[in-house]
Amino acid sequence: MKKLEELVRPNIWSLSPYTSARDEYQGKDAKVFLDANENPYNDPVNRYPDPLQRELKQRISVIKGVPADSIFFGNGSDEAIDLMYRIFCRPGIDNAVAIEPTYGMYGVCADINDVEYRRVLMDENFQPDADKLLAAVDANTKLIFFCSPNNPSGNNIDRSVIDKVLDSFDGIVIVDEAYIDFAGVPSYLRQLESRPNLIVLQTFSKAWGMAGIRLGMAFAQPEIIGIMNKVKYPYNINMLTQQRAIEEVMQHDRVKNWVDSILKERTRLMDEFRKLNCTIKVYPSDANFFLARVKDATATYNYLVDCGIIVRNRSKIALCGNSLRVTIGTAPENNALLDALKKV
Ligand SMILES: *Cc1c(COP(=O)(O)O)cnc(C)c1O
Repeated sequence: MKKLEELVRPNIWSLSPYTSARDEYQGKDAKVFLDANENPYNDPVNRYPDPLQRELKQRISVIKGVPADSIFFGNGSDEAIDLMYRIFCRPGIDNAVAIEPTYGMYGVCADINDVEYRRVLMDENFQPDADKLLAAVDANTKLIFFCSPNNPSGNNIDRSVIDKVLDSFDGIVIVDEAYIDFAGVPSYLRQLESRPNLIVLQTFSKAWGMAGIRLGMAFAQPEIIGIMNKVKYPYNINMLTQQRAIEEVMQHDRVKNWVDSILKERTRLMDEFRKLNCTIKVYPSDANFFLARVKDATATYNYLVDCGIIVRNRSKIALCGNSLRVTIGTAPENNALLDALKKV
């Protein structure tokens, strides 16, 4: 890996961050807070939240087995994705490489930040080739994005490919594990200590059932987390989100039960989906959704909309012609989908 100082944009490396009142005084013992121009009424939401979310980080640190100073929280993983570009990529000069097809936000954030985004097509089983990815790299490539399990294909990406890129690429490798709880394979969090160029993304939005509170996680060695903290908005995670996440994390054994039910339903729904008249192929899934090729994706999509059932039409995505992405719901929701499709 190149030195972090060579990878980070020079203006970011030399940035002196805004220091908030809550940064300057961090203790909890004081009784009178006259430092932040808050309104003294309307307790507790009158107070600014903890800018570094210390209590939540302590709890996530225990659950994930990662030190608190290796954790970043964002307003969804999407904030962390955007920060990757803002921290590492000089607009109009640097570029990022990613597997294709994959999660759309990597490309959108690249466009927003005026960063060239190089898509490296996977094979028909949605597996990338490490040599092709590395061949797309040049001296200005700062980031390589993996998503495993991948969205929209649903499969785990071959670990040997990710490992080879981690070994060979001298920039930052991002492994988005939004669906890792469904995947049945170990997380890349276990490689964090030995890999200074690795950033792992996870989220509260999928298995943890909290898409509505907007909370995403990034894990990396403390030097990178420190730079992310310096660039983010000072109070990027609001108080209500922090409180609710702490309450939910205290009962996080529920997540395992949800995942177990979703995995059972995944097997059942995919088996039934295979038997439908409209189905050509159901792709294997390691996530809480699956991709299916059907005879006419747009017709099936529109028919389902008329039935009040919404799936995702992925027909226009590379390698996904006539494909629908179906999220696993509750048993009654999945039955509603199957019943509707059995009628066509
Ligand atoms: C859903 C999803 C996310 C989660 O995004 P949030 O902003 O945390 O809700 C991240 N990556 C991928 C690949 C996803 O599909």
